[in-house]
Amino acid sequence: MLLKDKVAVITGAASPRGLGFATATLFAQQGASVVIIDLDAEASRSAAAALGDQHLGLMANVADEGQVNAAIEQVLGRYGRIDILVNNAGITQPIKTLDIKRGNYDAVLDVSLRGTLLMSQAVLPAMREQQSGSIVCISSVSAQRGGGIFGGPHYSAAKAGVLGLARAMAREFGPDHIRVNCIAPGLIQTDITAGKLSDEMKQSILAGIPLNRLGDAQDVARAALFLGSDLSSYSTGITLDVNGGMLI
Ligand code: NAD
Repeated sequence: MLLKDKVAVITGAASPRGLGFATATLFAQQGASVVIIDLDAEASRSAAAALGDQHLGLMANVADEGQVNAAIEQVLGRYGRIDILVNNAGITQPIKTLDIKRGNYDAVLDVSLRGTLLMSQAVLPAMREQQSGSIVCISSVSAQRGGGIFGGPHYSAAKAGVLGLARAMAREFGPDHIRVNCIAPGLIQTDITAGKLSDEMKQSILAGIPLNRLGDAQDVARAALFLGSDLSSYSTGITLDVNGGMLI
């Protein structure tokens, strides 16, 4: 078991088909106590309950500092430590540059970028006290190649921001034995993508993926396990591409 006695907080993990819940499930199988944080209290509680009794589901909007801090206080009250944070919550808006209004920009950057900062700020003092910790941030291939199928340019910007923020935190907190890394998923089959791809779109996407398939949530969960656990003990500030070769 790679995560025995570890406490892992995963945001945006209540959606049963999402990357967050797949990661939560794998982490629980590997022995971690998992805290699921998502927008809906009942959905978070029942997702955590599906994993077993030792896990916890909490409501917090990751872009709301008060809610984030209250949730992390509860986590520390119950478990006394936090070993892993997975910053997974994110939203997309498939619109083009000239259509991005202030509200679109704020909504997308608030969840991915501000949320990653606020959650990291909330757990870092405890990790620093422990002198150990691993933060995994979910970016996107959209940040690397510019634009995506579902995201929108402001989504690319938010996810590119996550890469920069993660590297800066990796540099700052390396001396405290806290590692910060990113995953950049390609096109993964979840609710974000479900039912939105025509056969024609799918074929043209597959033509650009050397492994010739879309990703599934397990592909990302396994990458999160690598980065979250001691398997990656000498890696910090890296971005692990999970995209089937889309960028070759
Ligand atoms: P999803 O929509 O299935 O799940 C996202 C979860 O985040 C949902 O449970 C939602 O309730 C939660 N959430 C949204 N806003 C929140 C907020 N403010 N506070 C707390 N929780 C919030 O999405 P997914 O496909 O599982 O994506 C997970 C992450 O991976 C996202 O950051 C997404 O941008 C990224 N990503 C996904 C893909 C893909 O192809 N699916 C590709 C690259 C990156």
